[in-house]
Amino acid sequence: MGRSPLADRFAAEREQRGRPGSCPWIHRYSRLRESEGLVRTLTGGRAGCAVSPDGTWIVSAGRGSTRRDNTLKIWDAVTGTERATLTGHTSSVWGCAVSPDATWIVSASEDGTLKIWDADAGTERATLTGHTGSVWGCAMSRDGTWIVAASADGTLRIWDVAIGAERAVLVLPGKACGEAFHPSTPMVACGDSGRGVHLAHLVGIGFGPLVVTAAARGDELTARCPACREAFPIERDSLGTETTCPRPACGTRLRLNPFTLHSAKRDAGRSWPWLRRGRNR
Ligand SMILES: [Zn+2]
Repeated sequence: MGRSPLADRFAAEREQRGRPGSCPWIHRYSRLRESEGLVRTLTGGRAGCAVSPDGTWIVSAGRGSTRRDNTLKIWDAVTGTERATLTGHTSSVWGCAVSPDATWIVSASEDGTLKIWDADAGTERATLTGHTGSVWGCAMSRDGTWIVAASADGTLRIWDVAIGAERAVLVLPGKACGEAFHPSTPMVACGDSGRGVHLAHLVGIGFGPLVVTAAARGDELTARCPACREAFPIERDSLGTETTCPRPACGTRLRLNPFTLHSAKRDAGRSWPWLRRGRNR
């Protein structure tokens, strides 16, 4: 049996990474092919997007270079219709993320601020100021209590959502241009314009119960612990409550969302075209 194109590509990368002076964290990927799962294109110049934890809506960030669109838009993921426009940023919005419990959204803008939005009402809750350059991206922790933001001012900043205040600043050798939280440990990864990728432990910062969305399959509900990756059955009565991962060696505190993944739309008899093509079917 011949090797797949993917295996060849990884073999070439391994060889490249092993050369003297090579930069092990830099990968160059070529586009493989168009996605077979493309369902719908939402119109408008958009710089970033995120999907709600239950998969029913999408939020996209507007890029205002030509159309002066400094907004975020919320879209119905099933019908593709626009639900709301979030206005308040004074320049392009480069990134956005949805809280693990789907109740709020954070956005990062060229105007140097982050904004927190109520996802249901579409209204602004707070503006986080402190960056001295464009904020190019944002992500939030799995417990929904921390935001990390990457900025052209060369810093990565950690924000406490509860009080809307900055709690830590990591100074990078170049502009910060990508960020992600570890799913279960207070760590962040970040790229910079100097071609580096950094992994930072957030000393003194702890996670609360990790927010989990249960998946519904018929009447059965299962949840997966982000720390040990173990899936376990849950009772419907436990939705919306806190629990402990049943794996003895783990014991991570978890908070179950009151809603479940996909179940609402399935119960309503509506189809999800891309799921039919998914590997789980
Ligand atoms: Zn666990």
